[in-house]
Amino acid sequence: MRFLILSDIHANLTALEASLAASKGKWDKAVCLGDIVGYGPDPNEVVDRIRELATVTIRGNHDKVACGLTSADDFNPIARAAVLWTREQLRPENREYIEKLPVGPVSINGFSLVHGALRDEDEYVVAPAQALDSLLEAPSPLTFFGHTHLQGGFSLAEDNSIQALRFKPADGEAFAKLELKKGTSYLLNPGSVGQPRDGDPRAGFAIADIERREVEFWRVPYEVESVQQRMEKAGLPEQLILRLSFGR
Ligand code: ZN
Repeated sequence: MRFLILSDIHANLTALEASLAASKGKWDKAVCLGDIVGYGPDPNEVVDRIRELATVTIRGNHDKVACGLTSADDFNPIARAAVLWTREQLRPENREYIEKLPVGPVSINGFSLVHGALRDEDEYVVAPAQALDSLLEAPSPLTFFGHTHLQGGFSLAEDNSIQALRFKPADGEAFAKLELKKGTSYLLNPGSVGQPRDGDPRAGFAIADIERREVEFWRVPYEVESVQQRMEKAGLPEQLILRLSFGR
């Protein structure tokens, strides 16, 4: 079974559509690691798409605030402005859908999904030391996480050595492949579809072939300008508009 792994779409429909077009026919089921909305201009369109597309979706920290489950007090002013705009835009049925999304970890087909760290959806897992608890406690040897918007992740080998992994495909390449070793645990981030932060503006996602023990880390270009125009029209903060050009 091949899974399309989507995370941090952040209401960017153009990036999502480009990712789906590039991966067409290459996966059997889709899952989403949260942050469907927040930052971007297309919250309802992206929620509609995920509702019809994904077998399992867990919530992210922006989803939690956008649907009103928690307040935006912990967000920086820019993220807060965007998430409050999102809250106003969401149609009632989409708001309700987000509110009912499960919190990770959720397990499917022998792997697990979380938004941030294993036990805390708001925690950023950036360094190996931060990944260790999640790697040790994960219910399965393979866990996908999001939240940092950085494609790659961490592995924990049988000899207890922990390694940071970067699998960003080179410019002009569609994906980089990781072969999963037996006896090694993995905490892998597919990258962010809608707001990459590793200096590469292309949309990021992953395709995991569970039987073949392979994970492909994809990058796909999309029309950033059209998203920026919609953001401008919506009156979203300028910093959020600009950062899409740089993937920061
Ligand atoms: Zn996010």
